[in-house]
Amino acid sequence: MARKPESDYDVIVAGGGAGGVGAALGAAAEGARVLLVEKYGFLGGAATNAQVLAYCGFFQQGPEPVRAVGGVADHVLDELRTLGLDCAPFRSPTTSNWIILLEPEAVKLALDRVLTNHDVDVLLHTRVAAVSRTAERLQSVTLAGMDGRRRVAAEAFVDATGDANLAMLAGLECRVGGADGRLQAISAPIRIGGRDRSVPIDRQAIIDAFERYNEAGAYPVARPDGGIYTDVPISGDMWWMMFDHALPDLSSASFTAAEQAARAAAHDYVAVLRRHVPGFENAYLIQTGPQIGIRESRHPPARYKLTGEDLLTGRRRSDAVARAAWPIEDHSVAGKPVYRSIGGAGFADIPLDCLRAEAIDNLFYAGRTIGADDMAYASIRVMGTAFATGEAAGRYAAKLTAA
Ligand SMILES: Cc1cc2nc3c(=O)[nH]c(=O)nc-3n(C[C@H](O)[C@H](O)[C@H](O)COP(=O)(O)OP(=O)(O)OC[C@H]3O[C@@H](n4cnc5c(N)ncnc54)[C@H](O)[C@@H]3O)c2cc1C
Repeated sequence: MARKPESDYDVIVAGGGAGGVGAALGAAAEGARVLLVEKYGFLGGAATNAQVLAYCGFFQQGPEPVRAVGGVADHVLDELRTLGLDCAPFRSPTTSNWIILLEPEAVKLALDRVLTNHDVDVLLHTRVAAVSRTAERLQSVTLAGMDGRRRVAAEAFVDATGDANLAMLAGLECRVGGADGRLQAISAPIRIGGRDRSVPIDRQAIIDAFERYNEAGAYPVARPDGGIYTDVPISGDMWWMMFDHALPDLSSASFTAAEQAARAAAHDYVAVLRRHVPGFENAYLIQTGPQIGIRESRHPPARYKLTGEDLLTGRRRSDAVARAAWPIEDHSVAGKPVYRSIGGAGFADIPLDCLRAEAIDNLFYAGRTIGADDMAYASIRVMGTAFATGEAAGRYAAKLTAA
């Protein structure tokens, strides 16, 4: 593809999570010159910045793991395999859904390698900080990095920031939270070491211990079920999601309070395990974060919003570009997730218009920024689906550039 001389890149992707990596690889596969910009010092999005250590959405529900997502995400899985992860479908004992278990250091390195191998330019420690536009098109982004600020122009852009930061900076009116303004709960998964793995985890002992903790503990748990836990591949660390919290708004003050509470709670909770649960006598906290897990923030305006009804009926469409196969997983009430299955053949089609910004021709969405109503959002946000919507966004952004 011939690069337009006036632009630095054909496609700029903001955000290096599953959606952004999918978009960058999709655009590169179409021959585009691609820049991916990520504010952290590593790629992976929630998988590496919030300890979300499982890819969901690659498989449909059911007794057998039927693939719903392939494409460029396979490059990532192949690279993860070279780093010692088997990436085999794993059936979660808590939800019975098929997932792929992750190890964060392997994810970081695999993504570095895959993007390098596909000639994507990557800038880490760099934030998309401003946007210039006309009425119908974005023209350039201002990048704020270690070396200051500079403007970079492109023919098309993908907002894969999770929080719709690119759309917000472009002045698009974004919805915050669900239709009622409520945000899905935040959670703070942690890793724990030092557990005696010869002792099976006693869920009931955890439930009992936290019932007692809740009577006077500083950070009462909202989950009555002992949380979700698995073994992290390679290290065998315990991964545990126990801290769920309602987020009142998107202010920095609320995020600060949530981060501080989640950190302190992590220490408290591990101490409770150590004291009251067999096998945890020598357990210790390996890591929180680097940040809390944000399930929901801003939704930018798209040309079509996928609906819960589309998912419940497994709606097929002629303009499909990706598949949503993860069940609707609603976290509106902290600590009490509600699951609803996808209908039809076990997946619903996601149309291109979910990935296109309303009124801005050269802005695409990937990952959890795509158009979706509350119910559909509770499915499409997972990382397997994000790779698929990312790839489609990247490919169409590149095709638009070439037109
Ligand atoms: C607690 C929790 C548990 C979850 N469990 C699972 C699970 O088990 N499996 C699963 O598949 N999904 C799970 N999810 C959902 C999933 O993690 C997210 O919805 C998913 O990561 C979305 O991918 P994304 O690429 O759209 O966004 P993200 O993963 O959030 O990536 C966005 C990236 O953009 C970067 N960024 C943001 N703003 C800027 C900017 N201005 N400039 C540059 N970079 C920027 C961020 O640093 C980040 O790297 C969970 C979510 C949470 C919070």
